[in-house]
Amino acid sequence: MEYTIKTSKREEIVDITTKVREAVDKASDEDSKACLVFVPHTTCAIIINEISDERVGKDLLNFLSNLTPKGGWLHDNGDGNGDAHVKSSIFGPEKIIPIQNGLLQLGKWQSIALAEFDGPRERRVIVKII
Ligand code: ZN
Repeated sequence: MEYTIKTSKREEIVDITTKVREAVDKASDEDSKACLVFVPHTTCAIIINEISDERVGKDLLNFLSNLTPKGGWLHDNGDGNGDAHVKSSIFGPEKIIPIQNGLLQLGKWQSIALAEFDGPRERRVIVKII
């Protein structure tokens, strides 16, 4: 299953938990063990955290901006987004969430989100039940 997410800022955290749950509801069965969420991109990532509190997302983006400020990267001579490639590599393009009895085994405060580092763009999110 695949979704398209339109981001609206250069950097933002977009909660995709509802879409992943929809995919699990449609495609999982009693033998399903896990859900893979993957973005086929090099300047965004998938994260799991307390996304319902938007301050957590802002803290993560601020942390990454302090760690990898915009400008000064070798790749900036290409398309000017060297920092976004580094940031997306820190979090990675995928997460695997266990499934039990057809339900994602997320903790009470955990949500799944796309972390955009070079938007606004259209992003593909691939969800596979395994
Ligand atoms: Zn680039």
